[in-house]
Amino acid sequence: MTGLLSSETVTILDDLSAGRLENIPDDANFVCCDVKSPLARDVVKNGHFDAIVHLAAQTMVPASMEDPKKDMEDNIEGTVNILEAARKYGVKRIIFSSSAAVYGDIAPECLPVKETEPLRPVSFYGLSKMTCENYIRLYQKAYGLSYVIFRFANVYGERQGNGGEGGVVSIFARQLAEGKSPTVYGNGQQTRDFIYAGDISNGIRKALFSETANITCNLSTGREVTVKDAADGCFGCRACQSRSAMPRQEKEISSGQRCAVRWRENISAGRRKRIGRKDWNEPILILKKNIEENGTLCRPQTESLLPACKQIRR
Ligand code: UDP
Repeated sequence: MTGLLSSETVTILDDLSAGRLENIPDDANFVCCDVKSPLARDVVKNGHFDAIVHLAAQTMVPASMEDPKKDMEDNIEGTVNILEAARKYGVKRIIFSSSAAVYGDIAPECLPVKETEPLRPVSFYGLSKMTCENYIRLYQKAYGLSYVIFRFANVYGERQGNGGEGGVVSIFARQLAEGKSPTVYGNGQQTRDFIYAGDISNGIRKALFSETANITCNLSTGREVTVKDAADGCFGCRACQSRSAMPRQEKEISSGQRCAVRWRENISAGRRKRIGRKDWNEPILILKKNIEENGTLCRPQTESLLPACKQIRR
């Protein structure tokens, strides 16, 4: 999904390949199209946008290994299409969602990972994100387009896809909703930095209006949480006491999973303050709260969001 802002108006551009129409707010314009398409450039041309939040991507590491060409097209070609439109039609700033995957495998002694850590991606997804970062920096140098690049940690939140494209937290949430026990791979002691989607959107909002630009930052809580604790966080909560007694299904970790990045962030206090990361949510607490209140990670769907349909152009 790519968000384009002109004054107070937000236009959302999404091909709905992973996104859902009912998640689009009533007060946003919506255009259903692929970021790689000429229509995407036309939208930028006609919209007179001040800024673009470019989040649209192929986001799955395994999919990138199965089909590197598709990953390259969606991620690199899609980004360059948006960058071209941005420079031609006077967009002032781009916010880009990069990923911890750009670091590749990080040795334990290099944790917490700094933004200055060498980038050695071990997946085509990490490589395509790294390449997009480089394109964006060169667009800044060559054409003056200002940018903030965020390297996201493991993001979780309401309405996260759980049909295969979601991460471990959404998988646990689905298992909880279906009355199953969590599938914890290995001994569950592998750690991740789980960051709530609301904190990501706060960071993006700050970056849109911040005087600080042309920077690349890790965007995470800086806290390691084991997969076991994440499972206990989901399944040990009040609303599911009866299920918490269920045994965890322990599975072997495949080599692909074993080499997944374990990381924490390290960013200077000054930068952290400038992009507003002082009071972020404790990892997993929001998840627990949602599950306690709703019995599921996902917010109940409401009919009221459907009027956004009328904004669709194809
Ligand atoms: N994981 C798990 N059970 C699952 C799915 C994943 O225990 O059903 C583990 C996985 O082995 C990994 C961690 O959770 O160690 C995070 O996996 P995810 O795919 O969410 O993120 P990534 O590995 O890409 O950081």
